[in-house]
Amino acid sequence: MSMRVFEFDVDRMYLLKLEHGKDLVEQLLTFLKDAEIKVAHISGIGAVMSAEIGYYDQIRREYVRTEVNSRCEIASLSGNVSLKDGEVFPHLHIVLCDEDGRTFSGHLFRADVFAAELFVVSLKGVIPERIYDDVTGLSLWK
Ligand code: ZN
Repeated sequence: MSMRVFEFDVDRMYLLKLEHGKDLVEQLLTFLKDAEIKVAHISGIGAVMSAEIGYYDQIRREYVRTEVNSRCEIASLSGNVSLKDGEVFPHLHIVLCDEDGRTFSGHLFRADVFAAELFVVSLKGVIPERIYDDVTGLSLWK
């Protein structure tokens, strides 16, 4: 399988100040739906009170989920937005650090926001769609 390249023009850029005590992923999803954004680049910083992150086990082909039950800085948050099963789908990865400087990182499922600022770059072009990939067991762009 050869590499796929998708090319876009920048549409709009947004800064989001998220609400305290609500899920980061849900808040982003609500914004994306309201603004009718289907393809985007995401980055962000802030702090969370807890989170659920994941590691994809490449052999067993499933996510191993981990609860992070400590108050952490969002040292890094990045991801993209495309379509999966016809629905807008944000794919986010995060690096968290606690008061002792320990880091927790991986695929982001959920994060209880203390304070967070997201930067959303919405893009114009052909929207990539995720479909099940036999080689990896993941939903990848076709
Ligand atoms: Zn991921």
